[in-house]
Amino acid sequence: MSGNTASSAIWTKSLGYKEAASGHQIEYLNPHLLRALQDAATAAKDDGVVFHVSSGWRSTAYQEQLQEDAIATYGSRAKASQWVAPPEKSAHVSGDAVDLDGYDTQAWLTKRGAGFGLCQVYENEPWHFELRTEAQQQGCPSMYADAAHDPRMK
Ligand SMILES: [Zn+2]
Repeated sequence: MSGNTASSAIWTKSLGYKEAASGHQIEYLNPHLLRALQDAATAAKDDGVVFHVSSGWRSTAYQEQLQEDAIATYGSRAKASQWVAPPEKSAHVSGDAVDLDGYDTQAWLTKRGAGFGLCQVYENEPWHFELRTEAQQQGCPSMYADAAHDPRMK
């Protein structure tokens, strides 16, 4: 569990343009989440599954842009809040959430993620995972229907 050199190479980033512009998104994750992710990625690799991180840490400015885009897309702040948290509440801005692309990765984490403390949080976002260390003993907690139902967003 010590050192963080070799293991980081086994999962890759698939970044959109805006994500790349926000910079250092994986490196700024909570180090406990990052370690869990690396440990899970190492185990998944043995099963032939490679993790693709589509979003990790986000700057406040970038999260604001995502929120504005979502309001434009969904037509209201309330509807947008089911998909995008405001910057001051976002687990991405605090470095406590990671989005992972791909059905294989998501399916693997659904089966094995709890063993690493990695849990899907929202029923409508199969790509969004946060660290729940208690999950290693108890399994992942029940999911919220969407971000708008998350009491942390109140
Ligand atoms: Zn997310």
